Amino acid sequence: NNKNGASEPKRISLSNDQTFDKNKNKIKLSMQEQRQRLPIYEKRNKLLELIRRHSTLIILGETGSGKTTQIPQYINSARLQNNGKIAITQPRRVAAISVAIRVAQEIGDGLGVGETVGYTVRFEDVTSPRTKIKYLTDGMLLREAMVDNLLMEYTVIILDEAHERTIHTDVLFGIVKQAQKTREEKKLRPLKILVMSATMDVDHFSEYFNNCQAVYLEGRTYPVNVYYTLTPHEDYQTACVATFFKIHKQAPSNHDVLIFLTGQEEIEAVAQQIRVLARDPDVGGPAVKVCPLYASQPTTQQMAVFQPAPENTRKVIIGTNVAETSITISGVRYVIDSGMVKARTYHPATGLDMLKVQRISQEQSWQRTGRAGREAEGFCYRIYTRSQYESLQKSTIPEIQRANLSTVAIQLLALGIHAVYFDFMDKPLKDSITAAFEQLKLLGAVDGVESKCLTSLGKKMVQFPLDPRFSKIILSASEYGCVEEILSIVALLSGESIFVNAPSKREQAFTARQKFLSPYGDHLTLLNAFRVYNKLSSNNQRSWCHEHYIHMRNISYAAQVRNQLLEICQRLEIPIVSCGNNTDQVRKCLVTGLFTNVAELHKEKQYITVDKRQVVSIHPSSILHGQQPHFVLFTEVVQTAKFWHSKDFQIYGCSTLKIKQ
Ligand code: ADP
Ligand code: MG
Repeated sequence: NNKNGASEPKRISLSNDQTFDKNKNKIKLSMQEQRQRLPIYEKRNKLLELIRRHSTLIILGETGSGKTTQIPQYINSARLQNNGKIAITQPRRVAAISVAIRVAQEIGDGLGVGETVGYTVRFEDVTSPRTKIKYLTDGMLLREAMVDNLLMEYTVIILDEAHERTIHTDVLFGIVKQAQKTREEKKLRPLKILVMSATMDVDHFSEYFNNCQAVYLEGRTYPVNVYYTLTPHEDYQTACVATFFKIHKQAPSNHDVLIFLTGQEEIEAVAQQIRVLARDPDVGGPAVKVCPLYASQPTTQQMAVFQPAPENTRKVIIGTNVAETSITISGVRYVIDSGMVKARTYHPATGLDMLKVQRISQEQSWQRTGRAGREAEGFCYRIYTRSQYESLQKSTIPEIQRANLSTVAIQLLALGIHAVYFDFMDKPLKDSITAAFEQLKLLGAVDGVESKCLTSLGKKMVQFPLDPRFSKIILSASEYGCVEEILSIVALLSGESIFVNAPSKREQAFTARQKFLSPYGDHLTLLNAFRVYNKLSSNNQRSWCHEHYIHMRNISYAAQVRNQLLEICQRLEIPIVSCGNNTDQVRKCLVTGLFTNVAELHKEKQYITVDKRQVVSIHPSSILHGQQPHFVLFTEVVQTAKFWHSKDFQIYGCSTLKIKQ
């Protein structure tokens, strides 16, 4: 149903009838042989021809068919990019990094990642002037557009995983489309756009991209048997573990299992449960290799998920939705789907912007199921009932229609565009644009909600790759004399928690970390720990982290982030001052950005947010949990959903505040 009466996109089908080699697992294929076995390989000439002919093309193909890894290489071999670069965007950093490393190996020029093939993600740039194929998160390409809105460095831009519809992808659609048009009008070197995905509403996309053509790459898929639970499970985490061991007892050891959960903490907890139970002689079954997979992992650990398990060992991958369509892992025959995902969500009733564990859409549910049927017939266990499945939303609502838009609004203003006038594929609600501008106004980034340009403070704020509230805090810090401290805290809040939070070791961890605890809350506690870490010689860091239950990689990531933020401050000529022991200044400074994140004690352990009047409680990971300061400042609201129906709002990362009456 074409709304504008536009012509139907022409569809070309590239079917593939290569048969499945039953002995595949036994043969060790060279990397080039692996490439040639991908369904896309036989179609490469036809595909290249289409890419050459069209300035914009939509490419649809089953997950694992070779879109992300192969198409940029084909383009590069045919030199279709001329003298420009090829950019491939990914919604998630894990995917950008692991795919770039893989493609660097496949290219086989022995140069490694960062040369011909590179990647750029927030706080990490592994490219060189010689890079021809550059994988990057959509957020990073957006930042590059803020420097050059015509993106002249690139002659081909591939918008991958387009169905994900993150805010950044949606904004990029508009920017890239405009860049292509302007470059054509100004007779600059042309820009080719490819839009790729495993699943999408082709008509909707085609219409937006000037009725461009769509091409289908048919991959191989095998049937998957889907099972539902008979009754709803209260606790999906435990149900996932139980289901895994049911499979584990029966299935041959070379049938790997993929479990979909929501985030690092949960994934690590389930990983630990499975490791312990698998060693229990009463449980039985082959040995188990557990591979967690989530965004903030170190690269080596991420790459481990691609290694086949040793003989007589079952591999179980426990991942977030990055394993849904962005990353394909071979050997998976069983999928266990918790039905949950963690997503940033704007809660319209309360106006809260938060990280929320929520139900997936039916579309996501089928993508997860599909991961079991890539190499042979598979099995998918859904940890929800059939009627729960039917109550799920058909498809995921684009993030632009459900998240806080202040970051987008400020970035668009840096490009000279007011969000109301931007060419979005699906327009965000007018109210949420207004809310974003109101927030920017309170932060001092704009003069009014109609502003088409940034204030001088706003221009400085966009220099930081951060939520505007945190940029504001950094920019206020010199006034409070605590730039050193604020840089550490913001860096620590930019990654995953540095504190190891294993429930079984809670008490030991608490004792070990006693000396960092600040009666004023989590922010200063983090700072205390970081101050000690920062003074250690690199030889002592590892054992110190171990003794104090601190995540070595998370704290060293924070140190890296801090250096980058420091560089930006130096560029902006901000004096790098310290408040020493006068850390009250730090809490005052935090309020300059997080003034909407304040809650007041209401009754026994219950708080009410001052801004939106939402009832919340202090998250158990906070050191203020169990205490009842009158006012608290918090970093984030999370809505936990260990259970399908829970509606618990918890505040995370808290500091005490005294409010003058
Ligand atoms: P698509 O983008 O179409 O989903 P990809 O190009 O990501 O497909 O993957 C193509 C194939 O390459 C997959 O079958 C996958 O098994 C393999 N592959 C991708 N990344 C890696 C990796 N890091 N290690 C080993 N194999 C990989
Ligand atoms: Mg892909």
